[in-house]
Amino acid sequence: MTDYGTLTPYLTTKRERGELAFWTDLPLSSCCSFKIGGPADFVIYPKSEEALIELVQLLRAREIRYNVFGNASNVLFDDAGYRGAVIFTSGLCGLTCEDETLTAGSGMPVTSLAVAAQRSCLSGLEFTYGIPGSVGGAVYMNAGAYEGEIKDVCRSSRVYNPVTGEVAVYSGADQRFGYRESAYMKAELIILSSSFSLRSTDPAAVRARMDTLMQRRVDKQPLDFPSAGSVFKRVNGFYTAKLIEDAGLKGMSVGGAQVSEKHAGFIINRGGATSSDVHRLIECIQNAVRDKFGVEIQPEVRTIPAL
Ligand SMILES: Cc1cc2nc3c(=O)[nH]c(=O)nc-3n(C[C@H](O)[C@H](O)[C@H](O)COP(=O)(O)OP(=O)(O)OC[C@H]3O[C@@H](n4cnc5c(N)ncnc54)[C@H](O)[C@@H]3O)c2cc1C
Repeated sequence: MTDYGTLTPYLTTKRERGELAFWTDLPLSSCCSFKIGGPADFVIYPKSEEALIELVQLLRAREIRYNVFGNASNVLFDDAGYRGAVIFTSGLCGLTCEDETLTAGSGMPVTSLAVAAQRSCLSGLEFTYGIPGSVGGAVYMNAGAYEGEIKDVCRSSRVYNPVTGEVAVYSGADQRFGYRESAYMKAELIILSSSFSLRSTDPAAVRARMDTLMQRRVDKQPLDFPSAGSVFKRVNGFYTAKLIEDAGLKGMSVGGAQVSEKHAGFIINRGGATSSDVHRLIECIQNAVRDKFGVEIQPEVRTIPAL
């Protein structure tokens, strides 16, 4: 067991002051959309940017491992849990609107942001409606759906660099967005908030588009089972779900993990799935698609090791 020194008294004091919430030995299965993962030594929810930054500084000074998450809807935690501190940003959920720009804290759900945009008569975020992630997670992943991508609307992000201790604004090319890629994947940066450039329009038209896209999700996706969404990235113009379906893998199971019958791009947790079930199923799918079509497919879901 790692020696966490005075971390627990520090967190207890901060909790008493209302600056954060925390749990020890909390199963990560209770914190993520896949419902998979053993206990984390610490699960911490800072309630402000200041509390988050101070916490990260302390963890770094004590050489305690940490990772920052939004809604954990694109991650596969390990059956052995996580040694260190898992930090969630849901307390960073402020929102401001200035002309046609919305600025949101990184912990705000993107679906709530889409609703806020619609209510402000602004268009551009409809495609995010129904993505179960946070602003920070969506920016980090350059999330996309139905011909929309975060890169089309995210003008800038305020980020904390734990190495230099500085807060900086990344805009335009600094964010280096690509297909399910961003500058944030290559550095230890923590996204604090992001600004989105939108267009004024008729709110009824925005609402209608959001409802249409949500209905498509309900019709096509296995939303009644835990999952992390589409497990694999698109490759060379191929729709990975189609490759998996054409390889005859719909319904294939390893333990409690199964290739969804409804959408072959999703691996669902049918109950009691472990991270090793999911890893073994991913490997089976990769091998079958390679053997049948000669195509290498890579996971989009982020694997978070225990150590
Ligand atoms: C049912 C379902 C449907 C989905 N549909 C879509 C879809 O249509 N399109 C799509 O793109 N994705 C989809 N996803 C996947 C997922 O919701 C998105 O990738 C989402 O953007 C992840 O956001 P999150 O807050 O959950 O990120 P998390 O899963 O919490 O984190 C993902 C990565 O981002 C990093 N991260 C998170 N927040 C920060 C931060 N503030 N600073 C720095 N790094 C951070 C984490 O360390 C991690 O590496 C779906 C998932 C599910 C379960």
